[in-house]
Amino acid sequence: MNQPALQTRLFIGNEFVEALDGSTFDVFNPYDNSLLAKVSEAKQADVDRAVAAARKAFPAWAAMSPSDRGLLIGRLADAIEKDRDNLALIETLDTGHPIRDTRNLDVMRTTATFRYFAGMADKNEGVVIPVDAGFLNYVVRAPVGVVGQVVPWNFPLMFTSWKLGPALAAGNTVVMKQAELTPLSTLRVAELARDVGFPAGVINVVPGYGHIAGQYLAEHKDVDKLSFTGSTATGRRIVQASAGNLKRIQLELGGKGANIVFEDANLDAAVNGSAFAIFHNQGQACIAGSRLMLHEKIADQFLDKFLALARSIRLGNPLDPATEMGPLTSRMHQERVLSYCQVATEQGGEILLGGRVPAAPELQRGCFVEPTVVRARTPTDRVCQEEVFGPFVVVSTFKDDAEVLAMANNTIYGLGSGLWTNNLQRAHLLARHMEAGMVWINCYKRFHPGSPFGGLKDSGYGREMGHFAMHEYTEPKSVWVNVDAKIPVFYPR
Ligand code: NAD
Repeated sequence: MNQPALQTRLFIGNEFVEALDGSTFDVFNPYDNSLLAKVSEAKQADVDRAVAAARKAFPAWAAMSPSDRGLLIGRLADAIEKDRDNLALIETLDTGHPIRDTRNLDVMRTTATFRYFAGMADKNEGVVIPVDAGFLNYVVRAPVGVVGQVVPWNFPLMFTSWKLGPALAAGNTVVMKQAELTPLSTLRVAELARDVGFPAGVINVVPGYGHIAGQYLAEHKDVDKLSFTGSTATGRRIVQASAGNLKRIQLELGGKGANIVFEDANLDAAVNGSAFAIFHNQGQACIAGSRLMLHEKIADQFLDKFLALARSIRLGNPLDPATEMGPLTSRMHQERVLSYCQVATEQGGEILLGGRVPAAPELQRGCFVEPTVVRARTPTDRVCQEEVFGPFVVVSTFKDDAEVLAMANNTIYGLGSGLWTNNLQRAHLLARHMEAGMVWINCYKRFHPGSPFGGLKDSGYGREMGHFAMHEYTEPKSVWVNVDAKIPVFYPR
């Protein structure tokens, strides 16, 4: 395997630059924990530089014809598609995602998202409000300004497009901070953006630590909005940090997805879909179906098939196209996920499968965890309530619809959830009552650049994707025109 050329410095004003104090941090390949790159570490002064570049670029970018902005975003999508093998390799080395996924899903979804928002740039339409006679009142959707974006490590490439796409299409300029574990694919996207002609300062990338660069970006007085994807705990810190200038906040936070299988479901489809729901990307997905709820009539039959499938998942070198599950993205996270096996057993849960590092000698240096299936004692156990964010699914059984609905909603989270049934009325009724931003019926973890993505409760607020995201990145501005209004004279003299 050829090591790809990596950009490892901050990207500010269309230039790759060292951090002002020369700091760097190490980025590791989670397959063998070898050093992948030393990346420049942004501190407060570097964030200031990036925000200043974004502020300077804002007026011209906002004033550019929307079609021209769309054209540039479209060119970036084309460049990403052309760079597919290279970007997939970078993402696999940096995150541990199997190459079959980064190549066929992550890069292609990234391209599709940029293309969608390229087309959206000139469809950001306003409205005319029928107000009092003689007045014209129109509302335009104006860009918010300089946007800070803070992104986690689980899908760094894809999230770059989710965040940059609508922000840029709407006419904002951006300072993005990737997670310290996985900054490399975003830096490559920034390089491609420069190459296709984005003006200096429109996109800036400041890799660095959350509590330093991320926190400072959230506090920054000259940042107008902050869009955040990450944990609920960090989301709360960001809301507090934003208070100084009351910047707009959008939060995509954690989840504990309920995935319900009814007695009338197509079992084979449900088994396969439920395995995808939890094991894809090593379970490191906010929308993972991490609580599997089985109707008691089919629970044993379902579990036999599900465990057999989970046992057969091929763990290995993520660069091998046959690998279906790679390592988790960091050693620390591997240890955290494994620690939940102890939490489960301490509370009377039973480990039905996995819960260990795989035995194969070639996997010992990496951050691997076997597909893990745990039977919970009660739905209030910690493993049923806390986000594990790994290949770790907790199984419960239920008797009827009312019981499972209460169980599904018994969580602080409200992001994604799924149900498998052939009963139409039940499906729609449950979808109506499930406390979640997204509900999948006879499928799981589907998304599209046009369909709103986001959550309720402690999963955050605001939506990515589609018109919804364009609204997140714009402010309505109401303009009143006196055409021929008869305005009463207030101060007759
Ligand atoms: P995290 O909150 O630790 O970090 C996310 C990002 O925030 C990183 O870039 C990090 O450097 C930064 N950060 C950390 N502390 C900060 C601070 N004080 N101020 C500003 N930024 C700070 O989360 P993580 O462990 O990287 O990611 C996993 C979490 O993300 C999970 O909870 C997962 O559910 C969630 N997630 C949510 C979605 C969604 O769309 N709802 C998608 C993916 C992941």
